[in-house]
Amino acid sequence: MLEVDGLSKSYGSVQAVRDVSFTLAEGGSLGVVGESGSGKTTTARIVLGLERPDTGRVTVGGHDRSVRRRGRAGRLRLAREAQIVFQDPFLSLDPRLSARTVLRETLKLHFPGLDHARRIAELLDQVGLGEREADALPRHLSGGQRQRVAIARALAVEPAVLVLDEAVAALDVCVQAQILNLLADLRERTGTAFLFITHDLGVVSQVTDHLVVMRRGEVVERGTTASVLADPRHAYTRLLLASVPRPPG
Ligand code: ADP
Ligand code: MG
Repeated sequence: MLEVDGLSKSYGSVQAVRDVSFTLAEGGSLGVVGESGSGKTTTARIVLGLERPDTGRVTVGGHDRSVRRRGRAGRLRLAREAQIVFQDPFLSLDPRLSARTVLRETLKLHFPGLDHARRIAELLDQVGLGEREADALPRHLSGGQRQRVAIARALAVEPAVLVLDEAVAALDVCVQAQILNLLADLRERTGTAFLFITHDLGVVSQVTDHLVVMRRGEVVERGTTASVLADPRHAYTRLLLASVPRPPG
């Protein structure tokens, strides 16, 4: 579904991303892990098309995302290929719009003529937002609720790929667990592929089946999530794992 091939990107003398390649199967879930500054967000921004790579290519369903899409239909198709949820939904949600309004606007744009009320109710239900939260402005919602709105908005587009960049990093541990549960559930129900970006190896096991580990812009290890967590090959991965608090016993 998603193919990332040989991406490199420099900012002046800083090489943020160096020859990064990975693939993500339809309905699959790939974790991208690494400490702060390892190039994860730059990779995500290139995948979304918010940033151009110096070299390399991103395709979704065989479509090259670096090719400029003209017209409204082209831009809408680009949006349906990939959506992103950021760490801080406060920055990405319009402070003047309730969840219901955001969803209605998004659906009107992408699926004109459909029964939006029914789809809105379905989306709200899928992300666990009640009637009160659906009509509240972002500032009257908790961090976890705002993240549910951001996830619902992304899913409304029915994207092939959903990129989650540190989407649970700002939440306390209990809410984090709820959102991870929600994501695991949505993955099964929607068939959307996840690119799950995090600095925290402790949160990947529930929501990813493959991992790439990035360090200083490069992929240093890759494999199934189970094998990387159980038997990390690279010293850097072992270091990341050692910093994950483990439950006793
Ligand atoms: P991560 O998301 O893993 O923390 P980033 O992709 O944000 O890493 O950053 C990788 C490197 O690129 C860092 O050294 C960062 O300072 C640098 N960088 C990222 N974006 C920019 C930018 N717009 N201008 C200059 N340097 C940047
Ligand atoms: Mg980042």
